[in-house]
Amino acid sequence: ESGVALVKSGVLTTCTHLPYAPFQSKDDSGKVVGFDVALIDLVAAKLSVKQEIVDTPFEGIKSGADLNSGKCDVAAAGMTITDERKKVIDFSDPYFDATQALATQTGKEVKTLEELAGKRLGVQGGTTGEEYINAQVKQKGLKVEVVSYRDLAALQQALATNQVAAAVNDLPVWNEYIKANPGKAVVAAGFDTGEQYGFAVKKGNTELLKSVNEALASARSDGTYDKIYKEWIGE
Ligand code: GLN
Repeated sequence: ESGVALVKSGVLTTCTHLPYAPFQSKDDSGKVVGFDVALIDLVAAKLSVKQEIVDTPFEGIKSGADLNSGKCDVAAAGMTITDERKKVIDFSDPYFDATQALATQTGKEVKTLEELAGKRLGVQGGTTGEEYINAQVKQKGLKVEVVSYRDLAALQQALATNQVAAAVNDLPVWNEYIKANPGKAVVAAGFDTGEQYGFAVKKGNTELLKSVNEALASARSDGTYDKIYKEWIGE
């Protein structure tokens, strides 16, 4: 044992919010898998413990509530590092770069938010995508109706069933969705928000944070990160 204190002895408990493929989702057997899961498995291996995943709303993850209450040791949720979140949780070194993207059904592409005037635009509640869109609407006085969905599955369902004309979320999740639903949707526009994902621990848990960062650093230097990237994200 590494001596790093964990909420449950012998187990690294990881809070995530499902589904968020390719970062975390259930495979056909119901097992939670993905890019984040594979990276946190490396942390668990380094600590000589197993990983246990807890699916919980994103709000409790980003607010620090779940880490503070001891629901989990680490949060791995495709979560963007932001100054606001840094006030309540401690982030690892960045492990993934992302931007926001606007998806529409195939054949219904729009290039700008302005073109969505009078239409509904879907976002995922509590995310940086929602924040970005709300800021744009305010700043540009856009006449679009922003509709917030509780998770990615609900947002994608809304797009597929014409409840919204377009939907915004992180680019890699749209790429994954399009791969899984060929011909159904397209990434019509991108917004270069320059985001970076970080894993998070309870504020002040420097010991665990150090293990997370060390596991990330060795994965980057020994090729494991690239292998995991290729497996879950692509070339
Ligand atoms: N990267 C986005 C954020 O941090 C979305 C995360 C998510 O929905 N799991 O807000």
